[in-house]
Amino acid sequence: MVQGTLYIVSAPSGAGKSSLIQALLKTQPLYDTQVSISHTTRPIRPGEKHGEHYFFVSVEQFERMIEEHAFLEHARVFGNYYGTSCETITQTLSTGVDVFLDIDWQGAQQIRQRMPLARSIFILPPSKEELSRRLRGRGQDSEGVITQRMAQAVAEMTHYAEYDYLIVNDDFNTALMDLKTIIRAEKLRLERQKLRHYALITKLMAD
Ligand code: GDP
Ligand code: ADP
Ligand code: 5GP
Repeated sequence: MVQGTLYIVSAPSGAGKSSLIQALLKTQPLYDTQVSISHTTRPIRPGEKHGEHYFFVSVEQFERMIEEHAFLEHARVFGNYYGTSCETITQTLSTGVDVFLDIDWQGAQQIRQRMPLARSIFILPPSKEELSRRLRGRGQDSEGVITQRMAQAVAEMTHYAEYDYLIVNDDFNTALMDLKTIIRAEKLRLERQKLRHYALITKLMAD
């Protein structure tokens, strides 16, 4: 079985990474691509579901999980804890499924250390004005939270060069196609193709 690829996707809040990942998942079967559900201590937003968008836990529960080494990575983002639990990720990858992590730059650095085969993608907005418009347009955060997220946006964006791929999310469908192209190209890498087509290659090379 060819191992799935672990994809790290980061972007400043509002750049569209959740929308892009969700749109990608709609076009892929579950046995092909899944998104990891993080744990967070931030308040649940209207419309969000426990176990679907995040596992919403208390600070005490989160800190207990840190002590128990339950996280592959964790970080404080906008004053809340966010973390990717180890459970399921390695198991899912071993069944050949690609797993997407929607995580910040701090988490991305930790994952690169621990999972060197992970691929990382950074998403930029077409402008600061558009980023601000999208954060407001989403209509899910208070004005205070939006101001805090805009201030953090530049700090997050300065890490773009640590990633393998860069997508500018201007036209949504173009950005989605870019994301799909990256995944397709990764599947075609020699090391993967050699494993996937082992029988064919053996036959073709036989005298
Ligand atoms: P949004 O994605 O910006 O709308 O807001 P979220 O509240 O969903 O995410 C807040 C920040 O936490 C983003 O920068 C995410 O990339 C980051 N984040 C989410 N889940 C994780 C995680 O499991 N680990 C880490 N390190 N960061 C995460
Ligand atoms: P993130 O997960 O990076 O915080 P979201 O996926 O929640 O960002 O997107 C923020 C807002 O911007 C959402 O309301 C989304 O519908 C909108 N959006 C995302 N991509 C585009 C795009 N290319 N053009 C216009 N609006 C977009
Ligand atoms: P939001 O609160 O808007 O859902 O997410 C805010 C930020 O937290 C996003 O940039 C998102 O990528 C990041 N984030 C979400 N989950 C995790 C996580 O598990 N780990 C880390 N490091 N960051 C996360």
